[in-house]
Amino acid sequence: MPVWLDLPRDQAGGTATQEDVERALACSDPGARELAVLLSPAASPLMEAMAVRARDLTRRHFGRTISLYTPLYLANYCSNGCEYCGFASDRPQRRVHLKPSEMAREMDAITGRGFQELLLLTGERSEPAGVDFLLAGVSLAAERFHHVGIEAFPMTAPEYARMAEAGCSGVTIYQETYDPDRYGRLHRWGPKKDYLERLEAPSRAMAAGMRTVGLGVLLGLSDPVSEALRLFRHANHLRSTYWRSGIALSFPRLRPEAGGFVSPFPVDESMLARIIFAFRIVMPDVPILLSTRERPEFRDGMAGLGVTKMSAGSRTTVGGYGGTEAVDDGQFRISDERSVEEFCAMLRNRGLDPVFKNWDRVFMEAADG
Ligand code: SF4
Repeated sequence: MPVWLDLPRDQAGGTATQEDVERALACSDPGARELAVLLSPAASPLMEAMAVRARDLTRRHFGRTISLYTPLYLANYCSNGCEYCGFASDRPQRRVHLKPSEMAREMDAITGRGFQELLLLTGERSEPAGVDFLLAGVSLAAERFHHVGIEAFPMTAPEYARMAEAGCSGVTIYQETYDPDRYGRLHRWGPKKDYLERLEAPSRAMAAGMRTVGLGVLLGLSDPVSEALRLFRHANHLRSTYWRSGIALSFPRLRPEAGGFVSPFPVDESMLARIIFAFRIVMPDVPILLSTRERPEFRDGMAGLGVTKMSAGSRTTVGGYGGTEAVDDGQFRISDERSVEEFCAMLRNRGLDPVFKNWDRVFMEAADG
């Protein structure tokens, strides 16, 4: 593990008091030490104050907007043995990929719902679904969407540069767990077993000129506080090195999947909310995403309280938006099955503005010119 991921002993937060939490909430330039305090047991009774601080900072930096996106799974081939995933190579899923004509139909069905931002997903690189396959998907998406992101296998810097050239603006790549031993045990086989190769992928994407990189941990795999503290260090390391690119953060929790994996470190909604509030307080200008993994009531409550970007109307199957028939069980089960219209109506009822487009590639390229 690189030195910059090490957790100093005095940042463990375990001995923090309520006064420390109050000081962290009042701090004008909070950092790693304050994050540890806000994630400590001493912060539990001050959740309300954390929520208020997170809401105020969210409004100051993002207004009342919630950006919307939707995921599109292009393929479910995978040679990896991630113990917690329904697409792992030992799961009895039918393996499929979308043909370019099917991708286009799916994308048209998604734009028909109003989306201007699309996240394209695949499993590990494979013969039918490698770099050229993903490039074809990015090119088709770039013709239809203002923001195209990918959540796929780690690539080399030249491969990321090709993705950017084809119209990809963002790369999402979660480390899943920063604990190297646990990482080794959970990733039973396949290229993903290489911890450092994955850890360095966001740097390669940023070095290749990608505009945004999404980081996250899969909550439930390891101690959530240590994971959150290391995620913070990773994000800060990237921000200080690649200051031209932006960071976004996600805190997905383990969901039921085809293999029946049981979380060794269950994270309840209260802890998830605290992690989101704490990150908003220490990283006030960083977008925080919340997906349809979470149940509707929780998502409704978190919208605008730290969270600034949400998926809606999602499918975790390959296809399934109306352009093609979904043929697999999906990577995991979603919790929020509301339609896009229902979700937007909820946001408006809460005084929030759903935003389908807050990015214009043509304008940004001209500005760079
Ligand atoms: S998490 Fe990703 S890499 Fe791992 S098995 Fe699932 S699809 Fe493959």
